[in-house]
Amino acid sequence: MARLQIEQISVLKDNYTYLLHDPASGATAVVDPAEADPVLDRLRLRGWRLSHILNTHHHADHVGGNLQLRQATGAKVFASSNDAGRIPGIDESLRDGQSLQLGTQAGQVLEVPGHTLGHIAFWFADSEAIFVGDTLFMLGCGRLFEGSAAQMWASLQKISALPPATLVYCAHEYTESNARFAATLETDNQALAARRAEVSDLREKGLPTVPARLEVECATNPFLRAALPSLKRAVAMTEADPAAVFAEIRRRKDVF
Ligand code: ZN
Ligand code: FE
Repeated sequence: MARLQIEQISVLKDNYTYLLHDPASGATAVVDPAEADPVLDRLRLRGWRLSHILNTHHHADHVGGNLQLRQATGAKVFASSNDAGRIPGIDESLRDGQSLQLGTQAGQVLEVPGHTLGHIAFWFADSEAIFVGDTLFMLGCGRLFEGSAAQMWASLQKISALPPATLVYCAHEYTESNARFAATLETDNQALAARRAEVSDLREKGLPTVPARLEVECATNPFLRAALPSLKRAVAMTEADPAAVFAEIRRRKDVF
């Protein structure tokens, strides 16, 4: 089966909005439209008709374009049932494990609370792609605005359990500063050193560091590695459980 065509659109200061196009049916989704105009421009450029508006969570930089896009295209808004009250224009509410059909492409909804309580991710297994919003960033993770560290740790584990080749599409270009923080924790992680060099090279050229393969994230992202001895040692918590280690890493990043 043909895979989804994925377009990455840079918006606001450092946000990414995505277009997902199923060539077989013409169905086209936008993930996290911060603004409508850049999305409408790209749709016009490609000759695509928007059918789905997918929101990972309710923050303005992820839903700001909902109403204008819905009005302009007739696309339906899909978001978490837990966030039904705070997603502009919501048409269909989604639950954990629910499948979502985008033309011939099957997506799956994963509830990943932590950054917000109603945060979800959209996983398209056949296209080896997951859209994680502000839950997992390249070399980082979202701040805990609503959920607990234990919730976020569980959500990140849910994502790490997906196939290693999965491409992780997050909603912000935060990688360079995340890399600086990660390097303070794991000084002899070779994969991290290599990724950090690649990241600064990409940013120098003005290129995105997103997406990245899940296996690369698992080898380099300290927030996915809280169960490992190297990370426990880094925060001097060798006997602690992974969720507590994760909480300490998150706390340090908040003040980094
Ligand atoms: Zn957010
Ligand atoms: Fe955001």
